This record gives sequence, structure tokens and C-alpha cells, in this order.
Amino acid sequence: VHGTAGAVTVEQPGLKRASTLRNIMFVTSEVAPWSKTGGLADVLGSLPFALAERGHRVMVVSPRYAPYDGPKDTGARVKLLGHAEVGYYHQQIKGVDFVFVDHPSYPRPGGIYSDTNGVYGDNQFRYSLLCLAALEAPFFLELPVPPQQQDPPRSPTAIAAAEAAAAAKAAAAGNGPTAAAIAEIQATVEAESSVPKTKYGQDIMFVANDWHTSLIPVYLAAKYRPHGVYGGARAILAIHNLRHQGVFPPYTFESLGLPPHWYGCLEWQYPPHQRQGSWAEEGRSVNHLKAGLTTADRVVTVSAGYAEEIKTYLGGWGMEGIIASRNPVLNGIVNGIDTDEWNPATDPHLAATYDTTNFVEGKAKCKMELQRELGLPVNEHIPLIAFIGRLDPQKGADILLQAAPNLLRYNNVQLVCLGSGNKDLEDGLRWLEGEFRDRARGWVGFNVPFSHKLTAAADILLMPSRFEPCGLNQLYAMRYGAVPVAHKTGGLRDTVLDFNPWAQEGTGWTYTSCDAQGLLHAVGMALLTYNNHKDDFRKLQLRGMKREASWDGAAQQYEQIIDWSFMDPP
Ligand code: ADP
Repeated sequence: VHGTAGAVTVEQPGLKRASTLRNIMFVTSEVAPWSKTGGLADVLGSLPFALAERGHRVMVVSPRYAPYDGPKDTGARVKLLGHAEVGYYHQQIKGVDFVFVDHPSYPRPGGIYSDTNGVYGDNQFRYSLLCLAALEAPFFLELPVPPQQQDPPRSPTAIAAAEAAAAAKAAAAGNGPTAAAIAEIQATVEAESSVPKTKYGQDIMFVANDWHTSLIPVYLAAKYRPHGVYGGARAILAIHNLRHQGVFPPYTFESLGLPPHWYGCLEWQYPPHQRQGSWAEEGRSVNHLKAGLTTADRVVTVSAGYAEEIKTYLGGWGMEGIIASRNPVLNGIVNGIDTDEWNPATDPHLAATYDTTNFVEGKAKCKMELQRELGLPVNEHIPLIAFIGRLDPQKGADILLQAAPNLLRYNNVQLVCLGSGNKDLEDGLRWLEGEFRDRARGWVGFNVPFSHKLTAAADILLMPSRFEPCGLNQLYAMRYGAVPVAHKTGGLRDTVLDFNPWAQEGTGWTYTSCDAQGLLHAVGMALLTYNNHKDDFRKLQLRGMKREASWDGAAQQYEQIIDWSFMDPP
């Protein structure tokens, strides 16, 4: 039954296996497609598959914010912190175990972390509970051995892709329901009978992500290891954004279930200029991220550029000293992108799909369709400039709004912005559209199909971010032949290589002066090239489209760091 769907035999190309296979557990507050507010969810929705593809056994643990369709109740229940009972839902997809922790505090009518009244008052509880629930799971959750670890090992994505193709073929031939039903039954039989179920055990590589799960290494060291448990486990803390640190009043320490003498690990004394709120008047607080930073075996950030910046006063948000002290175990790994979701050759959202051979015509069609849709003058020769991102001071939408009048008044360009968040900046986008009806659009909202269409239609994508740990939009843009113009910071510094017309190198333009002037100057260079050196511009687009952006490279770098952390003493 293995690897068959309908009447089609599944092909099983050889696995690119890692030399040492690990049991890896990612713990995260969000994971695409189930829950997403930003890049963190995208990473957790991709990197685990890339690691599974290389043979590792991988689990992703996240809250069950809603009654998701796929994951089934495992029946397991655990009581944590003396009063909170959690359940575990599970679904194995392409060789990765997705485990959703069930507790009444996770589903909310508003967003994941906040609603219109602000951030939820019990986030500290919700996410420390998630850490504890994740740390318990390897002891009792019995999960089917994934295809990459069965005997013989098989490629989970190749199996999934072939099964999907077989089902689609059967459906197209008119006997869809039967073939699909057979495949589903086969999968269920496979999952329930022939495939053995085993536990993850103790030798685990935990990967905690951002402040929400920063207590993973802390609990590991304070609650488990002193009792001889998890001696062989290691924990990496991955920083996707240092701005949010999980800072709470000092008295909340008592609710975390940590031994009293661990208070110092979490305590954080803020310098006077960073004090806010009455409980922080003396600058005292507990800071989850700080505790994770000091306790994790290794620290990873989402780009080498960001890893450097967070050791400095300007990029460290108060953590620079601690991060600098962890320099020997600090690394940066640039995120990959989901090259299935973001593929201009197959993207179902586009008016015309295209690849490196026909991107000029393809992009022109996408551009004209978008111009029509948005009521802008339809003309493939007018350069279309795009901005996509959260409307937050981090993303520099205010800088863009400041630069926009000069950009739009003195150049024949079209500017289309997509974003949501800060109300003033949302109003700013509306103002922009009202002020420049014939050349600008400001779409307020979170709209994934539109972000695909816009990226395909755009000639230039702006990333005026004040800081940017990695940034995904510039990666999507390059793959779609939109040339990024970006502030030279963090991951943008690492991924957007400056255009050098003499050597014919580079994939975009970066600028160092983080203000409207800097942005205008760089866009000016991009427009000059677009208008007067069409050939150069095409080559720039082509280099971006051909850039290696898959997760496999990042997965191999993670593997390297995982190997290093197992070499260190706990
Ligand atoms: P961050 O995680 O800091 O928000 P990233 O660039 O790492 O920034 O990731 C942002 C992700 O969210 C990207 O996938 C981007 O396309 C998407 N995104 C941001 N704003 C919007 C929006 N208004 N509509 C659709 N997608 C958006």
C-alpha cells in the first residue's frame, strides 16, 4: 500500500539524507497556514519540511487557536502548572508531525496575540503553558514513524506530491471521488496499522522561537535536567524579531512554575530611558527573551546581518550586552522561501504565469491586469513600484509616505501599497491614494492573493524598513522579477546585492541613509536604469529570479548548528 494512490505508482527519488539524523522539535506561537501574523509563521511552515526531507524526525508544536480541520485529537491529556489541563492534536504532513496544544486560553475572537483592546493580559501564561506542554510531549506522544525514517526511507514530499498528482489525475479523468477516497483510505490504513508508532524520547533538539517560547531552554535547565531528564537534549533559541521580548512585572515570576532561585535568570533591570508602566518604575521586570538568550545552547537569528546588529546599541533593544556575550554561539541563517507557494510559473493568483524565459511578457500582462483592476492608467511602460508590509514603524511606511509626493510628482510612475496595522499609517495610505488618484493606490488590509498579484506586477519593490531581521518580501520580489530597493539593514543587507553596472552584478539597490532622501535617491537610480538602460534592468531581474532561495540551503545550515550544539556540553 505504501506510496500508491489510485492506480499510479509513486516514484521515490533518492533522499538527500543528512549524515546524522536527529529528533527535532520546533516550538512556536504561530505556524502557517494555521496561524500567521508575519514571517515567523512562514518559517515554521517551511523549514521543518526541508529538515524532514533530509531524513530528520521533526515535530512542530503550536497552540490550537481554532478547531482546525486536519489535526486529530490524540486523547493525551496533561496537567501543567498544577491547574491547567492541556490536550494534544496531531497531523503528520509530508513527514512532519504538527502537534497543536489545546487549552481554553488559546482560541480568541480577536487576533492571536491581541484584539482591538490591545495585547491579551494572559499572554505570559498562554506561552509558558505552551513551552511546558511541548516539553512534556516527547515522553508520551506516540506518533507514526515518518516515511523518511521508515525502512526503506522515502522522500515525504515526493510521496505527497505524487499522491496529490494521482488524485488530481483521477479527478480529471472523471473518477475522482473513488480514486481520492481509495487514496485516503490507504493513507489512513497506513497511518493506523502498518506504520509503527514511537515516542520522540529524550535526545531532542529543541528550537524555540522568539520570546513566546524562550522559556524552553530555561525549563529544560531548571525543571528537567536537575532530575536527570533531558540530559542529552539541546536547545536553540531562534530570534526572528528582538523587538518583542516578553516583559512582565517581576511578581509574575511566581506563576511560571520555576524554582525560586531561577529568578535572577529572568530578572531584567531596564536602563532609565527604557522604563515604562508603573510596575517598571524602578526598571525591574522579568524578561522571557533575556532568560532564553542566557540559557539556550545556541542562538540563531534569521540573517548574519541581523546577528551583527543585535550586538549593538542601535539594534539590541537593550539586549546587546547579553547577545554580545553569547557571540561564540551566535549564528545567522537567512530564511528560505516556500518556492511552491511563491513560484511565478505556477502561481494561481496571477493573470499570466511566467518564468525566466518569458518574464518580460508575463510581467507586462500581470501589470496591465492589475492597472485595470485598480483603475490606474493601463500602460505596460510606466514603472510600477510596490510596497507590501505591516504598517509599523519597523517597516518604514512613514518614510515612504514622506518620500511619496516627490516620487510621484516628478516621475511618471505608479505606486501601489498594501499593508495593515497602525491606524495613522493606514490613514496615510488612504491619503496617498486620495492625493494622487491617477498614479497611487493604498490598499489597507491583509490580502495574500493581492500580495502575489502585486509582486508579479511590480517592477520595483520598496523595503524602507528601519530594521529587518530577514525580510521575506524582497525574496519573493526577486523570484518574481521585481527589483528590490531596500534600506541596507539586517537581512536586506545580506540578500539584496547592490547593482554594479560595470561588472553586471547585483540584484537590486540598497541605501544607508534611513530617511526619505536615501530612499528617493535609490529609487531614482532604479528608475534611471528602468527607463534608460532596459537591458541592464532585465539582467538585474533575471539574476534575482535565478537566485537560490529554497529552504534546503537553510536546512543544511541549521543541521550544522544542530551538530555543533550536540558537541557542546549541556
Ligand atoms: P514580518 O514578519 O516582520 O512582518 P516579513 O517580511 O518577514 O516581515 O514577512 C511578512 C509576511 O507577511 C510576508 O509573507 C508578506 O508578504 C506578508 N504580508 C505582510 N503584510 C501583508 C498584507 N497586508 N497582505 C498580505 N500579506 C502581507
